[in-house]
This record gives sequence, C-alpha cells and structure tokens, in this order.
Amino acid sequence: MNMSLLRLSRQTALFSALLVFGMSTSHAEVTPSAQAAMKSQSPIDFRSDSTYFGRLPALNFNLSSDTSLDVINNGSPDPEKTAVRGNVNPGAGSLTLSGHDWELAQFHFHTPSEHLLNGVAFPMEMHLVFSDSNKDLLVVGRWVQAGAFNSDLDPIFSQIPQNTSETLHIDHFNLNTLIPSNLESFRYSGSLTTPPFSEGVNWVMLSQPLFMSSEQINAFSSLFPEGDARGIQDLNGRIVLTDVPGFVTAVPEPETYAMMLAGLCLMAFVARGKSRPLTSDVPAGSVA
Ligand SMILES: [Zn+2]
Repeated sequence: MNMSLLRLSRQTALFSALLVFGMSTSHAEVTPSAQAAMKSQSPIDFRSDSTYFGRLPALNFNLSSDTSLDVINNGSPDPEKTAVRGNVNPGAGSLTLSGHDWELAQFHFHTPSEHLLNGVAFPMEMHLVFSDSNKDLLVVGRWVQAGAFNSDLDPIFSQIPQNTSETLHIDHFNLNTLIPSNLESFRYSGSLTTPPFSEGVNWVMLSQPLFMSSEQINAFSSLFPEGDARGIQDLNGRIVLTDVPGFVTAVPEPETYAMMLAGLCLMAFVARGKSRPLTSDVPAGSVA
C-alpha cells in the first residue's frame, strides 16, 4: 500500500470510529465461527504511538446522587466473572453522547485493570455498563489507583458479599462519586471482555483514575487470587481516539487533515456497511 492510500485508509477508519459513538449497531447471533473471526476485541493497550488526538463529543452524565444499590458477588473466584457488581435502579443513571441516550444498568470491577496505559496495568478497573433502546452497549471504564481511602465506595468495599448467595443492599448511594470532573477519555469500538465477547461495544475509558486505599483494593483482589481481567487484544487496525492533551506522541493530529475527513463521509458509511459489528442480545445487566 503506498503512503497516500495508507493515509486514506487510516482516515476512513478514523471517521468510522467517530461515527461509532451515538449511532446504533446491528444485532447478530454470535456463533463459534463468528467468534473466531472477531477482530475488534477488548481490552486493549492505549499507546501514545497508536492513538489519535482530537476534540471528541461531550459526555453528558445524568446520575442520581441518592439511589439504592443491590451489590452482588456473581461468582468469585470464577475468572470469567466479576466479584462485585452494583445493580442500578432503572432511571438512576444515564449518559447522552452525540444526541444518543444510554441508560446505566450496573457497574462492576476487575482486578488487575483490563485496559493498559502504555503497557502499564492499574490495580483495578471499574466498568459502568450502559445500554440503549436497541440493547446496544456502551461501557465507561475507569482505572483504580492506590491512594487515599475512598469513603464514597466504602459502603461497597467494607462489606463485599463473599459468595453468590449474599446480596448487599445499600439504601443511599451517590452515583456521581464514580465519575471524575475531568472527563477526558480514550474511545474505541471493542467487545465484552467476558464470554461471549460480543463486539460492537462502544468503549469510553476515562483518563482520570479513581482512588481507593490499598486496604479497599485488597478487600476486592483477595477474592481473586488469579485476577479476573482478560488479556490484551490486538488492535487489528482499529482507531483509538483521545482528547487527553499531550498523550499522543507519534501520530499526526486529526486537525492536520480535517479537510480530507469531510470528503470521506460517504466512504465511511460504505465501510461500516461492509463490516457489521457482531453484537448480540446480551443483557446489559449480565455483562461483566
Ligand atoms: Zn467488565
């Protein structure tokens, strides 16, 4: 491929990636052969030399500051499941992105982190799972770093259900404590990180970590001596976007070829039609 074709191809992929957010995706059965062909899997390593910088559509969260939660342990130490999941009441949380509405179904945690940042893992990672009226999925991820004691999350981590028969009911929880004020992020199209690894999942990984004390992190990770994080998956040419200033080091910033992007609009739609994402009807509430 010559350089101009390569650049054109990269830019088409970039535009496709931009279209991913706020647009619905199609549904299809995920057969074993389809799984073998899956090339857009999660998690990934966010690397400075393979990420594009640009202005991204705003994340408009609308989260209840006082809602009840049912916290479950859905199968530790099963490595394919998460130990702690907070099931959220319908209507308690939503996200609007590019005019598209997503409703929060649940949030849960992994240890160590599933996504990496320039090859580095964090002690834990939180996933907030949203779905839309088409049952498409958008996951907002956030790394967890060891630091100060987190009193907001203490009601969960001081009383983690130790087995699948326990449910911890929390009467009052402020969902806003899960989200930072700085919403800079990494975005890409990926998959569930647990079976059936369905694709077409919109990923928004927030760059600002959540801090929890080492004791709080240990309360979770002790349930998973082997961890419950899936390994890093190949990008396979996917475009990763970020609005974190200074993160991107070696890739030209989109502004330098913004003029070309406008002309690629039609092309991007064609590309989307040819590579339909392999989403499935996995309920958002069961995603780990
Ligand atoms: Zn997860």
